Order: sequence, then structure tokens, then C-alpha cells
Amino acid sequence: MSDAAILEVTALTKTFGGVTAVDDCSFSVRAGSVVGLIGPNGAGKSTTIDLVSGFGRADRGSVRFDGEEVVNRAPHRISRLGLIRTFQAPREWGSLTVLDNVMLGMRAFGRESILRNLFAARRVRREENADRLRAQEILEQFNLAPLRYDRAETLSGGQKRLVEFARVAAAEPRLVILDEPMGGVNPVLGERMSQAIKHFVTRGSTVVIVEHNMKFIEETCDEVVVMDLGHVIAQGHYSSLRDDERVVAAYLGSVDGG
Ligand code: ADP
Ligand code: MG
Repeated sequence: MSDAAILEVTALTKTFGGVTAVDDCSFSVRAGSVVGLIGPNGAGKSTTIDLVSGFGRADRGSVRFDGEEVVNRAPHRISRLGLIRTFQAPREWGSLTVLDNVMLGMRAFGRESILRNLFAARRVRREENADRLRAQEILEQFNLAPLRYDRAETLSGGQKRLVEFARVAAAEPRLVILDEPMGGVNPVLGERMSQAIKHFVTRGSTVVIVEHNMKFIEETCDEVVVMDLGHVIAQGHYSSLRDDERVVAAYLGSVDGG
């Protein structure tokens, strides 16, 4: 981990009608770190991730990724820079095989060219080349090798999430943002998710993770950012936040393991 910030969010603000979902939100993420983004439901975590990754338009504020201003850029342009996010509900190309889903992750694709990219991916798949071997390696790492020719839509929710992780891993992101990756996942898969997240870190990615499982946050994160009512109310090591009255009142007092 270095002292350099790979992500700097400053005064980010987003209003939906009368609701200010993200309100003057500021935090930074050091390169190589694992940062937990926590807070009660409705605190603005998902909206913040949307704004950071280009899936929502900010009313104001700044998002600097590795020093470059990316606020309100199109999502595919941001992902091409190496910032990849997942959604609370996994999104996969259901009619495509698990292998195709992973192959598609290997380039930072724009939505406009999925078909062209799919043909390219299939051509590559027929060749014994580095991409194919890499895809194979990722499938094995996520225990998806036996399912590689299954269509993604036939998988269980937890398996879909693993496919999503595999797709993210294939993109070799510099920063990966995971929105509630353990949500609705059984403990066995949860353990696999947690291993997968550690793999991202070992491979040099920085990780931001929204998660309600405080045991996981405590064990995995170098730092925690706490949001409430659209603001960041604290940022620091988990152990220091446990004694922060505002954090306990807003969130930790109400969750298991807090
Ligand atoms: P979290 O992920 O922390 O649970 P969200 O970012 O999903 O919080 O939501 C923050 C607030 O913004 C909530 O009050 C939510 O109802 C509201 N909100 C989120 N998305 C929309 C939307 N598309 N339209 C209207 N209100 C929204
Ligand atoms: Mg959310």
C-alpha cells in the first residue's frame, strides 16, 4: 500500500427530486488498500458508487481517478481506465456461456460494441493463446471450470456472483468497487467471495467494498469510510471507529458484530 490516493472523491453531491442521496461526500482511497464503505441502508453508498463509476450524473463535486478528473464521464470510458464496479444485483450476459462472460471481461468493453467484442472473444477462444489460458486460470480460481459451457442465466444467484467476480478479475482492474458482494450469499460461497477479494488485492488491485458483514469488514479492510445521510461521517481503521460515538449511533450500534 502506498500513500498515493488512487481515488479522491471531493464534495460529491446528487439529488433525486427532494432527496439528497449524496451530500457533499468526500473521501480518498490509497493505492493498494482495501477500503470498506459502510453505513445504514439509504446512506447513499450505492449512489456514490454510481457517481464514481459513471453510472449516475453528479450535480456537483469531483472524482479523481489516479489524478484524472472522471466525474460524469461515460461508464465505459471510466472502466477503460481500470475502474471496474459490480452491482448489488449481479449483471451477467445471461444467454452467453460462463466462459464468454469471462472472456468479455478481458477487455474494457463499451456497451456499444458487445457483439463485435463477442465475435472477437469467440475467435480468441478457438486459439490456444495467452488470453484463453488466462480465462481458464480464472475459471479454475473461481471454481467455475465445470460450468464454463453453461449459459450464465441457468446459474444460481451465488454462482452468478462468482461469474461477475471472474469477469472483473479478467479485466485486471486497478480499482474494483464491489456493492454488497456477500448479499444473499450462503456461508460457503461467502468464504469463496472473501478469498476472491483477497485475490484482487494480491494481484495488485485496490478494492472498495460496500458490505454489512462487520466481521468481514474488520478482517479484510485496511480502512473504513462511514456514510450516513449522504455524508462521510468518519474514515479510519475499523478499531478506531468502534469508539466513535457518531459511528456507533448511526450504524455500528444497530448491526450484528458491531
Ligand atoms: P445505500 O446504498 O447506502 O443503501 P442508496 O445510495 O441506494 O443508499 O440511496 C440513498 C438515498 O437515495 C435513499 O434515500 C434512496 O431512496 C435514494 N435514491 C437512490 N436512488 C434513487 C433514485 N434513482 N431515485 C430516487 N431516489 C433514489
Ligand atoms: Mg446500496
